[in-house]
Amino acid sequence: MARKVLALAEIRDGSLRNVSFETIAAAKTIAQGGEVVSVLVGESVQSYANELLFHGADRVVVVEHTNLKHYTSDGYSQALMAVVDAEKPEGIVFGHTALGKDLSPKLAIKLNSGLVSDVVSVEEAGGNLIFTRPIYSGKAFEKKIVTDGMIFVTVRPNNIQPLERDESRSGEVKAISVDIKDLRTIVKEVVRKTAEGIDLSEAKVIVAGGRGVKSAEGFKPLQELAEVLGGAVGASRGACDAGYCDYSLQIGQTGKVVTPDLYIACGISGAIQHLAGMSNSKVIVAINKDPEANIFKVADYGIVGDLFEVVPLLTEEFKKL
Ligand code: FAD
Repeated sequence: MARKVLALAEIRDGSLRNVSFETIAAAKTIAQGGEVVSVLVGESVQSYANELLFHGADRVVVVEHTNLKHYTSDGYSQALMAVVDAEKPEGIVFGHTALGKDLSPKLAIKLNSGLVSDVVSVEEAGGNLIFTRPIYSGKAFEKKIVTDGMIFVTVRPNNIQPLERDESRSGEVKAISVDIKDLRTIVKEVVRKTAEGIDLSEAKVIVAGGRGVKSAEGFKPLQELAEVLGGAVGASRGACDAGYCDYSLQIGQTGKVVTPDLYIACGISGAIQHLAGMSNSKVIVAINKDPEANIFKVADYGIVGDLFEVVPLLTEEFKKL
């Protein structure tokens, strides 16, 4: 059954986040030959529309307003409700990002719709769309089908393969005018706490440190390795609690959930709460001097040794490639 499906794009620091292209790819599968409409919301965002078309959107709808300069759930839900009113979609896809996690339940309630959140794959089987999502902190997966009403899903970043970029793709770009008003919160300024760098939730490579790193200084070799691999640095809560790094780097049940292609855990014991945030990484390498450390149970490759010897050696070897 062909459907019209909306896919919300996200912009950060002046660029479209990769998840914008992943929502298009998921929407394509859900649309089953129907139409995929990318939605751009912000203050002055129309210039991003072509990139969404190149990544497979059939059309782009743009909502611009000064009150949409920064994300607020009130402002964005007014914008999205106007798009839903105009487009009458049968499906909506958001990223399972901070924005998507905040906005999707609010919108689902307004639309009297269900919501399948944190989806890692969408496939068609026997006439049904099957949505797979992790449960029990990533220890198991459940498969869901939507039997009735709107198909509303959020997709976990880094899991759905975007379509190949193709500049020959084109489509209509349409602006919708909405008066965004009565906001209960207004963001006056965004103050960045962490250093500039690759967004952890979208990083393809993460080098993460735990309490075994022993100090803020001890993170330096990890930063060097991450730099050589074009990746980001993450941390366990143990390392954050000890003051070695900022909580914005924390990965796990109460931190960020990440799915990089390569996760290198250095001096991390592998507590269940940490595994909840990283065990779905495609390849896991663990470096720990304790051969009994729990992290080795989820690792594809394990190195028993002192991270302060192993990490610089890896950096030197990767530099040669
Ligand atoms: P440790 O458990 O102390 O492990 C340090 C490891 O480093 C050890 O395995 C040791 O062998 C190794 N090591 C030491 N020196 C070296 C060296 N030189 N070379 C190599 N290896 C070395 N934790 C999270 O990470 N994320 C979360 O989101 C999170 N949420 C939580 C939520 C709740 C409600 C609770 C109760 C806990 C949560 N925790 C979380 C904490 C979690 O239970 C662990 O305490 C924490 O993950 C331990 O961090 P760690 O592995 O860095 O430290």
